Amino acid sequence: AKAAGRDAIRFFTSEMNEQVQDRLMLEQALRHALGNGELSVAYQPQVSATTGQVIAAEALLRWTHPELGAISPARFIPLAEDLGLIERIGEWVLRTACEQALAWKVEGRPLRVAVNVSARQFRSANLPERVAAILEETRLDPALLELELTESMLMGKVDQAEEMLRRLKGLGVTIALDDFGTGYSSFAYIQHFPIDTLKVDQTFVRAMLTGKSAVAIVSAIIAVAHSLGMRVIAEGVEMEAQRNQLVELGCDELQGYLLGRPVPGAGFFAVGESGAAP
Ligand code: C2E
Ligand code: CA
Ligand code: CA
Ligand code: CA
Repeated sequence: AKAAGRDAIRFFTSEMNEQVQDRLMLEQALRHALGNGELSVAYQPQVSATTGQVIAAEALLRWTHPELGAISPARFIPLAEDLGLIERIGEWVLRTACEQALAWKVEGRPLRVAVNVSARQFRSANLPERVAAILEETRLDPALLELELTESMLMGKVDQAEEMLRRLKGLGVTIALDDFGTGYSSFAYIQHFPIDTLKVDQTFVRAMLTGKSAVAIVSAIIAVAHSLGMRVIAEGVEMEAQRNQLVELGCDELQGYLLGRPVPGAGFFAVGESGAAP
């Protein structure tokens, strides 16, 4: 039993070593990803639930490493936060997305572009100045830019968060609350913040197919959001049945694989391309 224990420990440490090395290697690679041109932005359509028209696109960061291939944002974004790289990367995403939105506008397709803001970016006091500088640089109409935040960023230092939102709103951009329903906040709490759009988290949209309670929850979210003057986007719409139900519940916009997968900006309006936005 002792020997087995020792083997287990040896096995465990070598596995841990591997994990540490994996992380170190990924860290090193991530430090150079932006400079090496390995990052790109994909755009996923947000369509009107009533007309089916594409009215916006969410910018989603992509990292393709020359040897490791595509690395999931769920894996490298927390790493970028830890390493203090997210401000620079986030700013690059913002500029790239604004340039893309301007290009679409010039083509006669004025789409809103939604950009994810990380917790660390939201905590840096000069975020509004940076956003303002990019808007000026790209000459994009601020009304075409939506910033996506999550509930957890609004918890804690309420006054500070409120002040930050007011400064951002002062630029003329809109604010969306991402992954709504997964955190601990409530309507009583968020009604104090100047939020334009609620994004119903995909876990509810998924659960709608099997459970009546999820339908009731989504229905309630939409009703209360509307009464507070917010627009509602449902995320992760994959099935026709979900779309129909969400339309029936009065959801404003839909996003998900059913409506279109994230694609490079140049392919966004490509006709007849599989997986491209309509
Ligand atoms: P998120 O902001 O909640 O983005 C939605 C995620 O759901 C995206 O994953 C998208 O590809 C995926 N998705 C869209 N439709 C469907 C669907 O119908 N079914 C399923 N199963 N998934 C769907 P992705 O691109 O892997 O991004 C994961 C997360 O990484 C994002 O979640 C966001 O939190 C973060 N992220 C992505 N880009 C950025 C960025 O530029 N900055 C920051 N700070 N975070 C980002
Ligand atoms: Ca998002
Ligand atoms: Ca989300
Ligand atoms: Ca998420």
